[in-house]
Amino acid sequence: MQALTFGGKEVIEFSTVNDPQLLHPTDAIVKITLAGICGSDLHVYHGRETGLDFGTIMGHEFTGIVEEVGNDVKKYKVGARVLSPFTTSCGECYYCRIGLTCRCEKGNLFGWMQHGHGLHGAQATYIRVPMADSTLIPLSNDLNEQKGLLLGDIFSTGYFCADNANIKPDTVHVVIGCGPVGLMTIIAAKHLGAETLFAVDIIPERLAMAKQFGSVTLNAATENVKEEILTASNGRGADSVMEVVGSDQTLKLAINLLRPGGTISSVGVHTAPNFSFSPSEAYDKNLTYKSGRCPAHHYSEKLLREEVPQRYNIENIITHQFTLREGANAYEVFDKKLDNCIKAVLLTE
Ligand code: NAD
Ligand code: ZN
Ligand code: ZN
Repeated sequence: MQALTFGGKEVIEFSTVNDPQLLHPTDAIVKITLAGICGSDLHVYHGRETGLDFGTIMGHEFTGIVEEVGNDVKKYKVGARVLSPFTTSCGECYYCRIGLTCRCEKGNLFGWMQHGHGLHGAQATYIRVPMADSTLIPLSNDLNEQKGLLLGDIFSTGYFCADNANIKPDTVHVVIGCGPVGLMTIIAAKHLGAETLFAVDIIPERLAMAKQFGSVTLNAATENVKEEILTASNGRGADSVMEVVGSDQTLKLAINLLRPGGTISSVGVHTAPNFSFSPSEAYDKNLTYKSGRCPAHHYSEKLLREEVPQRYNIENIITHQFTLREGANAYEVFDKKLDNCIKAVLLTE
């Protein structure tokens, strides 16, 4: 089959590799119909994650059709349309039972191979999905592939971020970062009832989309963000700040914008060894800080049950579509935000 494989720092190769095989009776093989490129893939792309095996198939966002199932797979038959969270989960361990499926004791991240262990990713013709019954989620006919793909990672992540932000009417909320995940966070925050919702970025096209999704936009490069937030909150500061970038500067900005007793909800993947604010700043703000990897299986099921993705045009953020063969170019366009790229997906045929 064809796949995009990791060839070293900023090297994505369009490769011919062996088709995946069933390794356990609970595995399924899924034929990919749509694969996404995620901001998190860029950490790998830029070589920031050390030790990822060369030849690892990239990617963890996908929808597909079940091609083959092991003997112990009960829930899925060949031909079923499915979406998948970006991690596998067993459905039975302590963490799965409390809804923290991203920390499943047997779980793994797709597109992550080290020393020959782990899982290959989804930017390929086929993928092997372990623990298929508890990992995969049916993609019903009223959902298109784009919505299914976004639900498996970034829409769930945006919702998780907003859900952790203690949103109430008559309060002031801020989303920092209007990339794909930030835009999903804005939709989720509005859905959860945020009335005064500010969105901060430095890219005009992204701010324009953030405005379409119902937020008041602030360009951090040209406007005084803190002053605007203080004015909107009777001088107190924001009730919550959703940090959706993953940098020292934005975490620092988040605490600066927050009122005492407020909440920072951070889903940005942070790689710094220390917080960019001090314990005393946290103390002085009576800070509540929530963060971490999104339990995407838990949220995907919840949001489908509540018919949330059906209600919003979340797929409007997909600005670019490429074939697998164009993978190297797709990564470059997505990474450098060329041609105003917000979200890129890959067609496997
Ligand atoms: P992105 O890089 O496309 O978006 C970040 C946005 O922040 C950009 O639009 C950029 O212009 C803006 N930005 C950067 N610095 C800024 C600053 N100082 N002030 C204002 N705006 C600034 O990334 P994305 O794909 O939207 O992902 C966001 C983060 O979420 C990444 O760190 C990604 O790895 C992470 N993520 C986390 C999870 C999870 O489970 N927690 C899941 C998916 C993605
Ligand atoms: Zn991701
Ligand atoms: Zn588990």
